[in-house]
Amino acid sequence: MNDCIFCKIAKREIPADVVFEDDNVLAFRDIHPQAPVHVLLIPRKHLVPTKGLAAEDARVVADIFQAAREVAEKEGVFESGYRLIANTGPDAGQEVEHLHFHLLGGKKLGALVPLQLN
Ligand code: 5GP
Ligand code: ZN
Repeated sequence: MNDCIFCKIAKREIPADVVFEDDNVLAFRDIHPQAPVHVLLIPRKHLVPTKGLAAEDARVVADIFQAAREVAEKEGVFESGYRLIANTGPDAGQEVEHLHFHLLGGKKLGALVPLQLN
């Protein structure tokens, strides 16, 4: 867990372009953007979706969806539309185990599956 890059970003131990934060959630721009708007939303807590989430973690997932709406509004894609995805496991190309949702927008995103190539 201590080596987790997203935990380090959450603790501000390594820099990131943060666009939103509150007590439970942090949102920052993806270092390799796949769309004009590409923001990652994470819980501050190190949650690992491939290991399953506890009932007590439901609240933070709801908080992430609320934060996603705020980020979409701030980034000017709430009206035009955006995609919120969580890659989970090897076939989805998940690189970072810490739970995260990609918020993508700012262009026509096309089919879902090609976006998952990494
Ligand atoms: P995954 O493939 O696990 O769903 O997505 C991980 C995402 O994290 C990738 O899109 C990758 O570009 C992004 N990423 C990896 N390391 C860093 C980092 O240090 N900073 C930022 N801002 N994004 C990162
Ligand atoms: Zn972590």
